[in-house]
Amino acid sequence: MVTIRLTNSKTRRKEDFSPLNPADVRLYLCGPTVYDRAHLGNARPVLVFDVLVRLLRHVYGGNAVTYVRNFTDVDDKINAEAQRRRDAGAPGTLEDLIHQRTEETIGWYHADMDALGAARPDHEPRATAYIPQMVAMISGLIERGHAYAADGHVLFDVRSFPEYGRLSGRSVDDMIAGARVEIAPYKRDPMDFVLWKPSDADLPGWDSPWGRGRPGWHIECSAMSAELLGEAFDIHGGGIDLLFPHHENEVAQSCCAHPGAGFASVWLHNEMLQVEGKKMSKSLGNFFTVRDLLDQGVPGEVIRFVMLSTHYRKPMDWTAAKAADAEAVLRKWHGLTAGIAPATSPTPAVIAALADDLNMAGAIAALHDLAGKGDAGALLASARMLGLLLPGMGDWAQAGDDAAVLIDRLLIARTEARTARDFARADAIRDGFAAAGVEVKDTPQGAEWSLAPGFDADRLRALAGDLA
Ligand code: AMP
Ligand code: ZN
Repeated sequence: MVTIRLTNSKTRRKEDFSPLNPADVRLYLCGPTVYDRAHLGNARPVLVFDVLVRLLRHVYGGNAVTYVRNFTDVDDKINAEAQRRRDAGAPGTLEDLIHQRTEETIGWYHADMDALGAARPDHEPRATAYIPQMVAMISGLIERGHAYAADGHVLFDVRSFPEYGRLSGRSVDDMIAGARVEIAPYKRDPMDFVLWKPSDADLPGWDSPWGRGRPGWHIECSAMSAELLGEAFDIHGGGIDLLFPHHENEVAQSCCAHPGAGFASVWLHNEMLQVEGKKMSKSLGNFFTVRDLLDQGVPGEVIRFVMLSTHYRKPMDWTAAKAADAEAVLRKWHGLTAGIAPATSPTPAVIAALADDLNMAGAIAALHDLAGKGDAGALLASARMLGLLLPGMGDWAQAGDDAAVLIDRLLIARTEARTARDFARADAIRDGFAAAGVEVKDTPQGAEWSLAPGFDADRLRALAGDLA
């Protein structure tokens, strides 16, 4: 069996992956807070996990993997957006407007991630559907002396968990010195974090032993992962921006609520998508959404290729040049594999590269080798491990297939013109190709052509209409 190696944030080392139960490999990815459209950075963990899940299913079996990604559908930002709509005169109660906002955002999220070829997880729990589990977990933490109620709030007592800070590699005292911790009169220690907080009468809230309120963000993931994957599971992931405090707090909650269980064996963190050296984020305003790119006509498959081309542990930028290169490569691969059946299994070089801490660049290099050798069946089966060349995903490249017919017709017309010594006509075809972004090379075996990144299908059609 292939050995997968992953860099575990917990040990800061690349380790052999060994699932707790190879017949049921379990992963949890922190999902979005559903108040607005996903920006491109938010797609990075989704795509990294999508390839990881494809690899795990290949190695352990299609039914041997359970993948959970949550929706955080209770949050101040959601409430604020609903309030803004109500202030603008939208009909319905605040509760209705909150519900509308989360439903519409989840719909967008599905549509956008589907467009990137990301398979839906096995479970997509919404936080609001797991409030009883959260309340039970918080009660357990209080009973075990790891949490305390004060002023309608429940707080986790970080000093009760000596390992607090181990995942992110900080001590509590360093954190207090360095972090923007919220000092509040009801906190015993400034680092103590909220498990439960009171809700105003018009905001979403649930009855609890501590009064009407709502959960803190961190407890959601601890409760939902335990419910759907068990107290111990294999891989927990998210962007590196979640390492502290979110994941540190999840570890504290889960390990204290379920002593000895172990929680996640491997922590996998992707680095950030950046814009001019800064993390792309809603709060910095330096973001564009996945939908913006799709609307500009960048195919989802091209976005996926670019996002996967940089190793997940390295920061990356989105550039138009990368998109143009990816588009040209994918057009070529679609052309090569059109009408071809995939090989029965992916090429070992692609699996070996992915198994080595998801070395995508290595996997893509192996795909180029297959394309270079003209091994279209193996290319197709192997590219699908990366979620590329999936059935139905390459429709955008069909424009290239139609183009192929027109280009062949024009090349025949050019040969006829040359034979008839009608050089003006032959030159017009040559210039027309250049203007449409079709590169033609004459070789002893005949003309070879390729589509340049700026390929313009309309110009090609016009040329064919004029001359062919
Ligand atoms: P959020 O809705 O902000 O909690 O983010 C959802 C997911 O996107 C989390 O796993 C974040 O770590 C991840 N994420 C947010 N911004 C970026 C970024 N610029 N690059 C990569 N991942 C990001
Ligand atoms: Zn989480």
